[in-house]
Amino acid sequence: MKKYDYLVVGSGLYGAVFAQQAKAKGKKVLVIEKRDHIAGNIYTKKVEGIDVHEYGAHIFHTNDEEVWNYITQFITFNRFTNSPVANYHGELYSLPFNMYTFNRMWGVVTPQQAAEKIEQQRQEAKITDPKNLEEQAISLVGVDIYKKLIQGYTEKQWGRSCKELPAFIIKRLPVRLTYDNNYFNALYQGIPVGGYTKLIENLLEGIDVICNVDYLQEKEKYDSLADKVVYTGPIDAYYNYSLGTLEYRSVRFENELLDIPNFQGNAAVNYTDKETPWTRIIEHKWFTFGKDEAGKDLPKTVISKEYSSEWTQGDEPYYPVNDEKNNKLYQAYKELSQKEENIIFGGRLGEYKYYDMDKVIASSLAKSKEIL
Ligand code: FAD
Ligand code: UDP
Repeated sequence: MKKYDYLVVGSGLYGAVFAQQAKAKGKKVLVIEKRDHIAGNIYTKKVEGIDVHEYGAHIFHTNDEEVWNYITQFITFNRFTNSPVANYHGELYSLPFNMYTFNRMWGVVTPQQAAEKIEQQRQEAKITDPKNLEEQAISLVGVDIYKKLIQGYTEKQWGRSCKELPAFIIKRLPVRLTYDNNYFNALYQGIPVGGYTKLIENLLEGIDVICNVDYLQEKEKYDSLADKVVYTGPIDAYYNYSLGTLEYRSVRFENELLDIPNFQGNAAVNYTDKETPWTRIIEHKWFTFGKDEAGKDLPKTVISKEYSSEWTQGDEPYYPVNDEKNNKLYQAYKELSQKEENIIFGGRLGEYKYYDMDKVIASSLAKSKEIL
């Protein structure tokens, strides 16, 4: 008999939820993690009393009642609402596109005036069937907003011209004829009080965890410890890239600790012109709110500048590039994985899917229900 029922590779959200569910069902679980800390990409680290999101800003939002009821058993969420500001050469606009944005751009005051202005710009552009992101954006919000708030940001983020990008990317952004700066259309939203690392610690309570272990380097040793494996690392790495390498878009974060209490007065400011090299600046203390420690009273602040970049092997994989070519390669790996008997591939890297956190939790819960 082996010592553990399950070996979970990776202590991110997928692995932690699976481990928690397995333990609750009386299974013996070991979690191993390559990095020197738990929590995967949602890892937060305290710096001068501020929870810093080390792998990019994470805002929890969901419409899934089951996921919300599950995750709130392990942590309290504050009432943070994401309301980014766009900075175009020093002109500030509200996001997502709403009446504040339209008022600042055109001086319009009523929803009817805004709708008329958008319609007028749409007609002037003569786009009937949008074929790329540029045409889609202009037909959604008109040419002025496209030029000041979309074109520069998008081309920096994706490293490609808006004419070459698919239209669907921009459809994720809400366009509202109301004075509502909430970026997400979600029933539930917030940030864990005490940080995301605390959430993962709570999920993993009473479970054996070993950090600084790369499963793929010591596979035989760790396989011998458990009956089944849940693997949340990159699927192509598991197969030693034998069918080819899956592509990602990467981000470089430049963190600065500043000796001032308030740098930009908001958690996220997007730089939408093409000249500024970063896409956005995050000021971490503004994610704390309500029941959190009073971030506003801290004398220092931590900011992160985000630079979008093309991924090369060895970089941290961030956004799966779910285009036709990569999805096809993933399918080939998936077919290989389906022949395995004792290993489950899960999460953002294991399933090569750009999952938000709530979708990762839902996927991990569904898998645990299926097999436990
Ligand atoms: P991960 O968090 O990547 O965990 C996988 C773990 O496995 C890692 O810790 C890794 O070190 C470990 N591992 C890999 N290989 C091995 C190995 N060989 N041996 C041992 N360990 C290994 N979602 C939202 O809902 N809201 C947001 O605002 C949001 N913002 C985001 C911003 C950025 C920049 C990015 C990249 C993602 C964002 N997401 C957001 C998505 C969110 O990060 C993911 O949904 C979630 O973290 C995925 O969890 P996971 O467990 O699948 O993967
Ligand atoms: N976008 C933009 N200007 C902004 C913010 C977003 O043009 O100020 C566009 C950009 O093309 C981006 C898309 O809207 O890829 C979706 O934005 P979202 O914030 O959802 O992207 P995420 O960072 O979550 O991938």
